[in-house]
This record gives sequence, C-alpha cells and structure tokens, in this order.
Amino acid sequence: MLKLKNIQTFYGNIHALKDVSIEISEGEIVTLIGANGAGKTTTLMSISGIAPPRLGEIYFEDQPIHNLSPNQIVELGICQVPEGRRIFPYLTVLENLDMGAFLRSDKENIKKDLDYVLELFPILAERRHQAGGTLSGGEQQMLAISRALMSKPRLLLMDEPSLGLAPIVVQQIFEIISKINSESNTTIFLVEQNANLALKAAHRGYVMENGRITIGDTTDNLMSNEDVRKAYLGM
Ligand code: ATP
Repeated sequence: MLKLKNIQTFYGNIHALKDVSIEISEGEIVTLIGANGAGKTTTLMSISGIAPPRLGEIYFEDQPIHNLSPNQIVELGICQVPEGRRIFPYLTVLENLDMGAFLRSDKENIKKDLDYVLELFPILAERRHQAGGTLSGGEQQMLAISRALMSKPRLLLMDEPSLGLAPIVVQQIFEIISKINSESNTTIFLVEQNANLALKAAHRGYVMENGRITIGDTTDNLMSNEDVRKAYLGM
C-alpha cells in the first residue's frame, strides 16, 4: 500500500533521513521505533508531504506521492495524528470533528463516521459541546484520533499516541488502535518511543537509529532480538 524507496530528507543542512526504505501492506499495523531524535517524526512528515524528501520516492498504491502537496495526500486517504495532539482548543469537540471532514462532501457518510467515532469514544459524545482545550490529555488524544478518522483515511499515521498520558489511558488508546485497524480495515503506521507497547500492538516493525533503518522484521522477531531487547525493551 505504501512504499518509501531510499528517501533522504533534510532540514536545511541537517540530514534527518538517510536512505530510508519502508513498506506497509494494506490492513497492517506497522510500527517505527527509535530513540529521541532518530528521525521518526520526520518519516511521517515526509509521507504526509510536510517535510518532503529531497531524494528518493514514496508510492501510495503505486502512485508517486513525493511531489504532492499535504492537501492532495490527505485527499488520497492518508491522514496524520500529530505528536502532541494539536486539536483546536477553542473549538468544541463536534467542531474539531467537523474540521477533520473538511475535504469531504459526502454528507451522509460523514454523519455515519461521526456516529462511529462517538461510539468508539463515548467520553467525546458526552463532551461534544465542550471546548477541546478543556479536555484532559487522554481525551484530547482521543479527539485527535477521531478528527483524523473523520477524513476517512485508508492509512492512518500516528505520532507517539502514548506521549504524556497515564498508563491506564495509554492502554485504552492502544486497544482502540487495534479496534480501528480490525473493524474499519484502516492500515496504521505507528511511531512510538514506547517500544514495548508499540511492538505488542503492531504486526511488523522497523527500528530507526540516527536517520537510518537498522532492522525491519515481524514484531515477534523484533521482541526476541537481543539488540532490540537491550536497547529498546530494557531487558
Ligand atoms: P522525537 O521522538 O524526539 O520526536 P524523532 O525520532 O521523531 O524524535 P525527529 O523529530 O524526526 O526525530 O528529528 C530527527 C532529526 O531532525 C533530529 O536531529 C532533529 O533535531 C532534526 N529536526 C527535526 N525537526 C527539525 C526542524 N524543524 N528543523 C531542523 N531540524 C529538525
């Protein structure tokens, strides 16, 4: 479904991604783990067209997307849940969700998807008229995920959904991630510093170090890999 072929991404002179190749098949949850500053967020930004690669190619269902604008990429069905949520704090929950459907015109299906996300996160249904900024961190993460789902993505890019949340909330969020993947057949690319959680939730994973992919394998193999256990699982 998604193929990154030897991409190189720069911020001015900073060479953030070095020859990164990643493949994701439809229906998978694939995770990208790595330390702070390894280049995980940049990988997502390159896919979504916010930090496009200077060299290399990105294909979504065999269509090149590395030269498309972020809008065009969303229209193709790729949507990112950014790190730190970035919901609209002064808009209500419902207004935030409306913004997620901004590029769509199929009103009937938008209503169905709204019902689906409010069922997925009943707390958002309860708080539908409350301003986004007054929600707890976990609720804001739920809102950010729901807002992305309102664009009806086929591929959901998630940047550190566990960041800054209490363990119980993180567990809830990860259960929902699996549910979204299995119920609505949404393919998920999950970037996480919490390797334990991410490897349990995903089917396959990649390890990134200093802007390079060092390992790519099934999550079962990654969890039994000595180097991964030592460096990322604290074992
Ligand atoms: P984190 O877990 O801290 O978000 P990360 O693995 O997502 O880390 P990136 O944020 O992708 O890593 O950063 C990769 C490299 O690019 C780092 O060296 C970082 O300092 C640099 N970088 C990231 N964003 C910018 C930017 N806007 N301008 C300049 N350099 C940047």
